[in-house]
Amino acid sequence: MGIALQQTLGGVGRCRGIGLHCGQPVAMTLHPAPPNTGIVFRRTDAGAEIRARWTSTTESALSTVLSNGEGIQIGTIEHLMAALAGSQVDNAVVELDGPEVPIMDGSAAPFMLMIERAGIVPQDAVRRAFKVLKPVWVSANGASAALLPEHGFSMSFEIDFASRAISRQDLSIVFDSDSFKSEISRARTFGFLHEVDRMRAAGLARGGSLDNAVVVSGDTILNEGGLRYADEFVRHKLLDSLGDLYLAGAPIIGHFRGLRSGHLLNRKLLEALFATPDAWCKTTLSRADAVDSLMWRERSRASA
Ligand SMILES: [Zn+2]
Repeated sequence: MGIALQQTLGGVGRCRGIGLHCGQPVAMTLHPAPPNTGIVFRRTDAGAEIRARWTSTTESALSTVLSNGEGIQIGTIEHLMAALAGSQVDNAVVELDGPEVPIMDGSAAPFMLMIERAGIVPQDAVRRAFKVLKPVWVSANGASAALLPEHGFSMSFEIDFASRAISRQDLSIVFDSDSFKSEISRARTFGFLHEVDRMRAAGLARGGSLDNAVVVSGDTILNEGGLRYADEFVRHKLLDSLGDLYLAGAPIIGHFRGLRSGHLLNRKLLEALFATPDAWCKTTLSRADAVDSLMWRERSRASA
């Protein structure tokens, strides 16, 4: 079992779409980046560069927003971050000519395709990760998020909504190299029709439509084509959380448990982890083989 190497894109990837909240057209270009760059966002229209780290995020509940502290923001980065994490891309520069990552179809699938087409290439640097050594958790208003020690990387999430279109959904997943793409990446963002007017009045969800979100009205799903997975809602929460966790700056070895958690709590969880020096350590990753292809892990022994 060899040491895993950092990865970047083999070429450039491009897409164009509208921002979910700003409602404006945005062009996005993904570029390869040197080892140890991490994921860096650039706004070409504002001449700003922001590293994709939890320390650069704002207190935003509905999406994950980066800020340079001087008024320049980059919104709705979480689905792209999930695609980069799920594709095991360590280093990339994301260029945007507007204030928000395009929402595309509301999932991470279009970004997975972009990354696949650009290609993924190994680099001459060891792949590092953060290993959880002790349980860390945060909670607020009946929601909670936790990181627990684990040999590999796994996530579980539970949601409970009054709407019978969603109700209670609980899903646990151990990530291997394919599971993000097949089990999670196509899950779309969702919202309730009764919240749309309030969000629009607050200047949010201006680009939202049935083309980029599952919209629930009472107990009914309004999208003509229905759902992509029977439990698409909880799968999207796992997608969001993976994207938020990648703001640690490297993969995490451990188990994430979310209970009705959201972007704000996920950010507080990373804050709590890094504020507890004996709860984590840095480690290097080993290369997955065909038999035991956990997405990332520290040791060669498979975890249950
Ligand atoms: Zn989302």
